[in-house]
Amino acid sequence: MAKKGRVFSGARPTGRQHLGNYLGAIKNYVAMQDEYDCVYCIVDVHALTTVETTQDLKLNTFEMALDWLAAGIRPEESILFVQSHVPEVMELHTYLSMVTQFGKLTDLPTFKEKVRQQPENVNYGLVGYPVLMTADIVLYKTDVVPVGIDQAPHIEFAREIVRSFNYRYNTKVLIEPQVKHTEVLKVVGIDGKDKMGKSLNNHIELALTPDETTKRVREMVTDPARQRKTDPGNPDVCNVFTMHKIMSPQEEVDMINVECRRAGIGCVDCKLRFAANLNKNLEPFRAKRAELASQESYVQDVLNDGARRARTIAQQTMKEVREAMQLP
Ligand code: ADP
Repeated sequence: MAKKGRVFSGARPTGRQHLGNYLGAIKNYVAMQDEYDCVYCIVDVHALTTVETTQDLKLNTFEMALDWLAAGIRPEESILFVQSHVPEVMELHTYLSMVTQFGKLTDLPTFKEKVRQQPENVNYGLVGYPVLMTADIVLYKTDVVPVGIDQAPHIEFAREIVRSFNYRYNTKVLIEPQVKHTEVLKVVGIDGKDKMGKSLNNHIELALTPDETTKRVREMVTDPARQRKTDPGNPDVCNVFTMHKIMSPQEEVDMINVECRRAGIGCVDCKLRFAANLNKNLEPFRAKRAELASQESYVQDVLNDGARRARTIAQQTMKEVREAMQLP
């Protein structure tokens, strides 16, 4: 069946992926492969805007690739590669930077947020982050970028840069990417409060062993008003129940919904049930991951092959870009 067009998405190499990454991004990456030609990029150059040491970059890239592949990214079909392996993106970034107004970049809320987070390292790359992101997208002649509602302004900004470029050089060579809104599921961490993430250490890594997973799940915060097992609980404010709704069979969800409210089931039992369901769901992922982890050279081959295929597209785009710009 003919696919609907090309999708591009990138994520920084953050190493082992957690449940939030899986439910909020990777699951959708896997599903989109059925409908689109997908290009998935581990954006190591973007990571350099915030990390000052590169010592973990290789390992984090490898671990992330393992998780993506084990979760169902199909490298024979999709292009999976590392951003810096296709250096054409840096060239396009430079050309796009000449049609992007500095003031617009420094006005972006995401830039201001970064300045607050790392006032001692407001580097030039940080300001140009959205320009490099635009280069990533348009270099591969992307039709569609999957984003959550909160990220839509970034793509709108990318579209503006593309329009400025095409207008200045009187060309149509760069494609304005379309936004594909995805239902963003915000996974809350085991603290029951903040978005699940590595930096807050409130995450559950996909690659943990079943025992480690159960231990982590036991630490999950439930309805804070429920002090004792004999108190009735409120599943509507309990993150464990929210996760049950995503992971567990409907009958079990219905049972917990009733029993929790009348203190028929305690929080520990409820968590152990969730851990069991989570472990069961992750079984095929873990088996595949273990198999891939034992074949390091295969994973490297996948990334090299991805870079080769990505580069073929990139070189063609750059040829057209240089022609359109009438570079000598
Ligand atoms: P990046 O900085 O590259 O976005 P993150 O690790 O923060 O790296 O996120 C990678 C992807 O996983 C993003 O699409 C992000 O929206 C998603 N993600 C991360 N944490 C969560 C979460 N707790 N719930 C839902 N999605 C998440």
